[in-house]
Amino acid sequence: MATSELKGVAASAGIGIGQVVAVAEPDLTYAPHAIEDVSAEIARFDAAIASYIEHTNAQAEAVSAQVGPKEAEILTGHVVMISDPYMQGEMKKLIEGGSCAEDALVQICDMFASMFEQSGDELTMQRATDVRDVKTGVLAELLGRRPVDIASLPMGTVIVTHDLTPSMCAEITGAIVAVIAETGGLTSHSAILARAMELPAILSAPGALDALSDGTTVVVDGSTGTVQVEPDHLELDAAMVAQKKFAEDKAALQAYEGKPTATADGVAVELVSNIGTPEDANAAMERDAEGIGLFRTEFLFMDNTSMPTEEEQFAAYKKVAIVCKGKPVIIRTLDIGGDKEIGYLGMQKEDNPFMGFRAVRFCLSREDVYIPQLRALLRASAFGDIRIMVPLVTCVDELRQVKALVARCMEELDAEGRKYNKDIPIGVMVETPAAAIMADVLAKEASFFSIGTNDLTGYTMCADRGNEGVRYLYSTWNPAVLRSIRAIISAGRAEGIPVGMCGEAAADPLLVPLWIAFGLTEYSVSSTSVLSTRREIARWTVADAQALAERVMHLATADEVRKALEAAVAVRAAAEAASEPA
Ligand code: PEP
Ligand code: MG
Repeated sequence: MATSELKGVAASAGIGIGQVVAVAEPDLTYAPHAIEDVSAEIARFDAAIASYIEHTNAQAEAVSAQVGPKEAEILTGHVVMISDPYMQGEMKKLIEGGSCAEDALVQICDMFASMFEQSGDELTMQRATDVRDVKTGVLAELLGRRPVDIASLPMGTVIVTHDLTPSMCAEITGAIVAVIAETGGLTSHSAILARAMELPAILSAPGALDALSDGTTVVVDGSTGTVQVEPDHLELDAAMVAQKKFAEDKAALQAYEGKPTATADGVAVELVSNIGTPEDANAAMERDAEGIGLFRTEFLFMDNTSMPTEEEQFAAYKKVAIVCKGKPVIIRTLDIGGDKEIGYLGMQKEDNPFMGFRAVRFCLSREDVYIPQLRALLRASAFGDIRIMVPLVTCVDELRQVKALVARCMEELDAEGRKYNKDIPIGVMVETPAAAIMADVLAKEASFFSIGTNDLTGYTMCADRGNEGVRYLYSTWNPAVLRSIRAIISAGRAEGIPVGMCGEAAADPLLVPLWIAFGLTEYSVSSTSVLSTRREIARWTVADAQALAERVMHLATADEVRKALEAAVAVRAAAEAASEPA
C-alpha cells in the first residue's frame, strides 16, 4: 500500500511515475541590518554577484543550445546589466554607508526600475522588468536560496509546485514526467499547456509541497487526479500496466485519423485545433486537425522581450497559413491581461485584472500595439484562409471599432500596393455574458462566432477559473452556462453565421452530445484531443443527442446535469461494447 494518497484536479491525462522535485518560489524576505565590517560585506556582495553571473551565463548557454540564441539574450542582458560599474558603484556606496548588501541591492535596483518605468519609452520600460529579474537573482544568491533550474532537472522528475506558471511550462523538457501544483483549474493556461505537451498534470492539490519532499517516488494519474506516494511494488506494477493501457487507448484512436468528422447519421461538422505558436500548427496538422480554430497570439508576445514587429508577426501568421494549406485559420488578436502579463507593454497593475483592461479593451486603446498586428494579419491573409477573431467583446461598438481599424489598415496596404484578402472574415469570440445576451445583434455584424467557454463559464458563474475556493461553481455543466451556450448558437444560426467553440468544453466527451443537439458547426480543441473528439462526435446521431439535450436542459443543477450525461454516455459505451465482435 502507498503510504498516502493526494488528490487534485485531473488537468492533463496520462500516468507519470517518478521522483519529486519541489519547485518553490524562493522566499526572498530578509531582515535589514546595519553593517560593522564594511569590507567583509563588500566581499560577500562581490561573491554573490560573481556567483549570479556564473550561474546566469551557464543558463544562457543551455537556453541558447536548447531554444535559441535570441531567447538566451535576455539572460546575457542581465549579466551585462549587473556588471555595469556605475550600478555596482552605487550599491557599494550604500554598503560603505552602513547598509547590508541586500538593502543596497534592493534600493538601487528599485530606483533604476522606477526610473525606467517612468520613461514612457517602450524599450526603456522593458528594462524595468530586467532590473527586477536581476534584483531577484542576486538577492537569491545573497540569501543562498537560488530557485530550481527546471530545464536541467534529471530524467523521471515529477515537479511539485505551488503555481504552475506558463513560463515554468516553457522550461519543461522531456525529463519531466508529470506535474503537481497546489493551485490552478482545468482551464487555466498552465493546464492547457500541459495538455498540449501531453504531460500528466494534477492541479489544485492543496498541501502538495508539504506532503511531498524531494526524492519521494510518486505515481501521478492525470486522468483521475490522484497521486500515490511511495507506492509498493504491486502498485508500481499496476501503474505501469495502466500506463501501457493509456498508450494503447491512444493508439486505438488512430482508427479515426483521416476520417471525416461527422455525427453517426452523417451530419458533417468542422474539427479544428487550438494553437499557441506557429510551430504548433505542424503538430495540429499531423494530428489531423481540419484547420486552426484559435491561435492564441499572446504567446508570440509573451515569448519576447520586446513587442514582435509587424514583420515578425507577419512571418508567424504566414507560416501558419502555409502549413495549413488553405484550411481555415482563425487568429485571435492579442488577448493580454487577466492571468497573462507582458512587462514591456507597460500595463498597470489592477486589483481585478479579469474584469479589467484586457484583450480588445487594451488593444483599442493602444494602436501602436494593435495596428501592426492587424496589418500583419491582413498581409498573411494573402497566403491562406486567415480569419480574424476579436476576444472579450462585450458590446457591438468594440467590433465596429476593430472593423474600422481593419478598414484603415486595408487603405494603407492598398496605398503600399500590398496583397491581402479584402473579404477577410472578422468574428467575435463570445465569452462574456454581455456578448451572449447581445448575440442576436452581434451576429448581424460578425462573420462568425466562436464560444470561449473557459471565460464564459467564469464570467457567467462569477467564479475565477483558477480559484480553488470557487471551483465548485466553475463548471460548464452548470445549467446557466448551458442555456447561454444554447442561446448563442441559436442566435448565430438564425443569422446564418458559423458558430464554433474554442474553449476546453468543446472536447468534453460528456458535453459533445449537447453541442451536437444545439447545432454547433465547429469544434476547436487542443491538437491532442482531435481524434478523441472525432470519436465522440461519431457516437451520436443528431436525434439521439437532441433527445438527451431535451432531458438535460430541464435539470436544475450542474450535478444533475453531470450525472445525467455520465449515465447517458455510459449506456452508449456499454451498447457499443456489446455490439463489438467478440
Ligand atoms: C476561452 O475563454 O474559452 C478561450 C478559449 O480563451 P482563453 O482560454 O485563452 O481565455
Ligand atoms: Mg478567453
